Amino acid sequence: MPMDLVSTQSWKAGDEVVGQYDFSGRSPYDLPFQRGDILVIVKPTSDPNWFRAKSGSGNEGMIPANYVKQRKQVTLHAMPWYHGKISRIDAEQLLYPREDGLFLIRDSNNYVGDYTLCVSFEGKVENYHIKYSDNRLSIDDEVFFRNLDELVQHYTLDEDGLCTKLIQPVTKKGDNFGTVSIQDFRSGGWVINKSDLQLSDLIGKGDFGDVYKGTYKGQAVAAKQLKDRDRGGQSFLQEASVMTSLRHDNLVKLIGVVLGETIFLVTEFVGKGNLVEFLRSRGRNVITKKDQIHFATDTCAAMDYLESKNLVHRDLAARNVLVHDDGTAKVSDFGLAKFGDFSLSSQKFPIKWTAPEALRYNNFTNKSDMWSFGILLWEIYSFGRVPYPRIPLADVVMHLEKGYRMEAPEGCPQEIYAIMKHAWEIRPEDRPTFNQVLKKLNNLRSITV
Ligand code: ADP
Ligand code: MG
Repeated sequence: MPMDLVSTQSWKAGDEVVGQYDFSGRSPYDLPFQRGDILVIVKPTSDPNWFRAKSGSGNEGMIPANYVKQRKQVTLHAMPWYHGKISRIDAEQLLYPREDGLFLIRDSNNYVGDYTLCVSFEGKVENYHIKYSDNRLSIDDEVFFRNLDELVQHYTLDEDGLCTKLIQPVTKKGDNFGTVSIQDFRSGGWVINKSDLQLSDLIGKGDFGDVYKGTYKGQAVAAKQLKDRDRGGQSFLQEASVMTSLRHDNLVKLIGVVLGETIFLVTEFVGKGNLVEFLRSRGRNVITKKDQIHFATDTCAAMDYLESKNLVHRDLAARNVLVHDDGTAKVSDFGLAKFGDFSLSSQKFPIKWTAPEALRYNNFTNKSDMWSFGILLWEIYSFGRVPYPRIPLADVVMHLEKGYRMEAPEGCPQEIYAIMKHAWEIRPEDRPTFNQVLKKLNNLRSITV
């Protein structure tokens, strides 16, 4: 039984809570649930200890506030000293020969999934193997840490067996999104038990692993399995951590993560699959102007929301938009692109969707997302064709920089083509914001029959 019988929670409609104890219900108006169930607050009541809530399978009823706890966002720890996957030689160049106590942390080359602490001392660089096991980190198997942040703090205060205290970090330049600790998913209420997840068909193949259809406590879900524990392990959790802070009807919703031998990212199941296949398989004869403007507006609404949170998607494309059974479009697949190993040389790099300044200078912003949105509009109105059909990949940027732009797809409304052209301004600052485009699309939608 819960100890704190008096609770004064100020949860609002839409907030998510997780059951801390089983609740069998005392009256027919109550909503019974079990420990670990995720419930969404429908509305508060005049009694601060009771809320009206809805379960994953859609049942509604009253729940006692002291039997549940609110789900918390998982945030990234800012870790300026974390350099990710750089080689030992590169790390030594950054540190050598500099003042004692200068340090950085990189991914271990020899031990997949572990880290290496590199410290400058007496003109040399010392490398310490940071082992990761049982969700804990340790250098000496005596002192353990939940995350790198804690480890650095510890050795900043006390050398504790190292050659020196950590004095000053070598700060990583450019994108540094920090890392995520598994502990934060646990304490935030995002970890779900593997035994509650039933997997069925394989529905997609992602870069980071296969995607299965499944059920979680009566709800249809998609579970993306992380193939290999190391490669992308952090990026995978980073995608999940970004998702814990987002809630919008046009964004695919995170349900939780399964941790353990295999890691799964569990999201709501979006029944009609990705937009590009949806467009191609149905085509001109089935998909109406009204469907097209709906897809465009839905996607733009999600992007407007991301823009308002200063989040950059980086991989917006029709293949990463999913279509719900009721026809709503939902943006998915954010996170991996932002953090992952997304080098220009990679086969997977979406050149035809990426703004020139992002391709050339790695300058990804909401404005480069806007460029991609222009391409996505072109995909919608061409019923899923591959952009720049006649131009080889390697020549695309050259043509763009000379001013070439795609023509309007056949039958595309003028107003939509005007938005594409605006999204493809060469100078990012000349492109519109998602907020501006959303207003235009909403207007168009209201007059499209
Ligand atoms: P990746 O990160 O490797 O690009 P995606 O998240 O795009 O992987 O998923 C790959 C494919 O799996 C998608 O194109 C889609 O067909 C399917 N898929 C992914 N998530 C869902 C979901 N929530 N509901 C239904 N299908 C999904
Ligand atoms: Mg994808």
